[in-house]
Amino acid sequence: MRDSKVTTVPTNLHEDSSASAMTTVIVRPGESERLLAGHPWLYKGSVLRLTRPTADGELVQVKDHRQRFLGMGFYNSQSKISVRLLSNDRITADAPFFRDRLHSALALRKKHMPDATSFRLVNAESDFLSGLIVDKYEDTAVVQISSLGMDQRKGMIVEAIHAAIKPQRILERSDAAARRFEGLDASSGVLKEAQPTDLETLTLSPILNGLKFEVGWSAGHKTGMYLDQQTNYQCASQWAKGAQVLDCFSFLGGFALHAARAGAAHVHGIDQSEDAVAAASRNAKLNGLQDTCSFEAANVFDWLKAKTQTGPHEKVLPRFDLIILDPPSFTRNRDSVADALRGYKEIHLRALKLLKSKGILLTFCCSHHVDRNMFEGVILSAAYDAQRVLRRVATFSQSLDHPVIPTIPETEYLKGFAFEIAR
Ligand code: SAH
Repeated sequence: MRDSKVTTVPTNLHEDSSASAMTTVIVRPGESERLLAGHPWLYKGSVLRLTRPTADGELVQVKDHRQRFLGMGFYNSQSKISVRLLSNDRITADAPFFRDRLHSALALRKKHMPDATSFRLVNAESDFLSGLIVDKYEDTAVVQISSLGMDQRKGMIVEAIHAAIKPQRILERSDAAARRFEGLDASSGVLKEAQPTDLETLTLSPILNGLKFEVGWSAGHKTGMYLDQQTNYQCASQWAKGAQVLDCFSFLGGFALHAARAGAAHVHGIDQSEDAVAAASRNAKLNGLQDTCSFEAANVFDWLKAKTQTGPHEKVLPRFDLIILDPPSFTRNRDSVADALRGYKEIHLRALKLLKSKGILLTFCCSHHVDRNMFEGVILSAAYDAQRVLRRVATFSQSLDHPVIPTIPETEYLKGFAFEIAR
């Protein structure tokens, strides 16, 4: 008979004692390459087994089927993403960990956008903090949490934000639909404040490239406004001097105000939301640019159609030197890409008809499912139909406070081009 001691030898000889109290999630053979390349998501279907049961939200270590260590992250059995890796090293998800991550995130923004005072401080996967977004609007930080592991550590996250930027208030706006997939309900409100905040009347007041913007706490998109275009606003203004400018999907007037400040002859902004139009008009006034800006509440598709429809012997009169198209995403999933492309083609075709010779079309696509090549293809197809030849004069991505990690394709979503009418 065998010595009973033999049966007590661990089956996993590589398990180190420091991590023995922790659950290990073992990855199926052939499924660890993505993690090794730097992608932080371990899908449910890629999990072989857990060494022991663990509570949702707990920190776990991840190993391949040969027991090679791959990293550590938060586990959630309710999500399609079983583990969101935080690190390829051994970590403890404690207060110093979050302070360190926030410190690194801030250092990155200081390095690449040294003059920015409002910016995205944490951009989830791009900052190796899957499930956490933090936007800084001057003295207000707005947190958006979309994973259970992060949600359970909100207190530590708030303290880390405070240590990094010492804002007057830290607010939460976690109303993202993505929370449902993690078993979380919407959550918003004040997390920390130096003085009492009245959310009913609170206005976020970011300054972008020296221009003042205001957006009501409840009226904003995402955490307030789109900070991802900050660098592009500035770039776009190089073509605005003396120009007749059309800003389609103008929202708070980001492109419009930058063009007006750069010396545009006139800027007309169009947005279907009455609230957005009112806010953009207020923002123009706030910066003393009301005389060169006008905003109109209209559906861009209808507006462009009306301006480009002609009778049998009429021609469209090109009126603009610079047209900006920065629409919302036309598709949230792969299935509706064809419809989205039809939408993109339609607005490009009509915008090109309204552009003067040598005019500039500045166009953006924020849909993850429409990549740069597809997007450019649709613009060129519209140009063909409009009998225009385009010269590409610039390409754009999201501002550097929304870092792109190419091995995590989900981190890259905004692409844009500037095309000049060549003939
Ligand atoms: N260019 C803006 C961001 C645009 S966000 C910026 O830099 O901040 C998208 C905006 O498009 C929203 O304000 C929304 O109200 C508006 N919108 C969506 N569909 C529209 C449509 N069909 N016509 C006009 N505006 C539309």
